[in-house]
Amino acid sequence: MSRKHKTGRHLLQIPGPSNVPDRILRAMDFPTIDHRSEEFFELAKQCLSGIKDIFKTKSNVIIYPASGTGAWEAALVNTLSPGDTVLMVETGHFASLWVKLAKRLGLKAELIETNWRRGADAEEISQRLSSDKTGKIKAVCIVHNETSTGAMSDVARVRKSIDDTGHNALLMVDTISSLASSDFRHDEWGVDVTVSGSQKGLMLPPGLSFNAISKKAIGAHKKATLPRSYWDWGEQIEANSVGAFPYTPATNLLYGLNEAIAMLKEEGLDNVFSRHKRHAEATRLAVQTWGLEVLCEEKEDFSNTLTAVLLPDGYNADEFRSVVLDNFNMSLGNGLSRLAGKVFRIGHLGDFNDLMLVATLGGIEMGLSKSSIPHQVGGTQAAMQFLKQST
Ligand SMILES: *Cc1c(COP(=O)(O)O)cnc(C)c1O
Repeated sequence: MSRKHKTGRHLLQIPGPSNVPDRILRAMDFPTIDHRSEEFFELAKQCLSGIKDIFKTKSNVIIYPASGTGAWEAALVNTLSPGDTVLMVETGHFASLWVKLAKRLGLKAELIETNWRRGADAEEISQRLSSDKTGKIKAVCIVHNETSTGAMSDVARVRKSIDDTGHNALLMVDTISSLASSDFRHDEWGVDVTVSGSQKGLMLPPGLSFNAISKKAIGAHKKATLPRSYWDWGEQIEANSVGAFPYTPATNLLYGLNEAIAMLKEEGLDNVFSRHKRHAEATRLAVQTWGLEVLCEEKEDFSNTLTAVLLPDGYNADEFRSVVLDNFNMSLGNGLSRLAGKVFRIGHLGDFNDLMLVATLGGIEMGLSKSSIPHQVGGTQAAMQFLKQST
């Protein structure tokens, strides 16, 4: 690998991992301590209590030393039994990976397919549940913010549509790329298991993931018989009550998590959410001005954390991304599976501000020109105009 120094900061504008702020890097730059010491228990207790405010829950949040995929698996193995049916909405690549994981665990996945350009349809979920007269569907699984397409699902509406049918299914929601950047309310929205990860809105490096769980989910845990060991909530909850973990925790990432929670609270979660919304709006304005197409076609479903942009036929998004990387030292997200080469994704989440967005859009606009991709100039300018006028 060539290690030639590239001057200036690398702009990591993929939709996760996101840019890790210096303050978090510094907070992790401490010796690893004994995880069976009082000092560690204090740190863990702070993390375990602080993270509840981010999920907006009074219930338990389990912290795993694992990527988000681990927390997906944990959600299923803790609540379900072999052969159980789960209703999963396939909104994009990440939703389809969760489906694959469920099938490998021996669950039956019933799918609601989409065109990968919108969020989950609450109506359709409620129809499927209504026709499930024997209650064979044990859980509904949706992705709050589908990171492969830039489409969000309305979780509160999905909950209501489940309740309206009187069906008893658990609701599981993947918030890996929305937590701490888009409004999410575990308790109020009646979510049973919320899955999340450290490396997106929480501004941390990859390596931690989460399950926020409801009382109903804990009830399901008692009866569920899928094999579970590493992911078992029971041992976690018991150990966590004194600030311990059942196995070696990711101590330095917990230092970082503590700092991330403090930073989010200083800014105020509502301000964090409106900052993301505003940057998403400015980004779409730029894309529109360039004359390019935003992949998400439902206005109400637009993501606050990323924008997937379709290139005109005959232009390869990966070639475009490498032009941007080589010339401007910026990484953009690639198109995943069926979207490979067709879209690039702009991450505008985490520790991000107006000037970083202007730089991101400027790099894209120059890259479009260098790649001779047909577009109108002025997208960056339009975004700047919007940013100047809105606060
Ligand atoms: C990133 C992401 C994942 C995968 O998480 P890993 O940390 O890579 O295991 C799953 N779902 C969504 C919505 C994501 O954005």
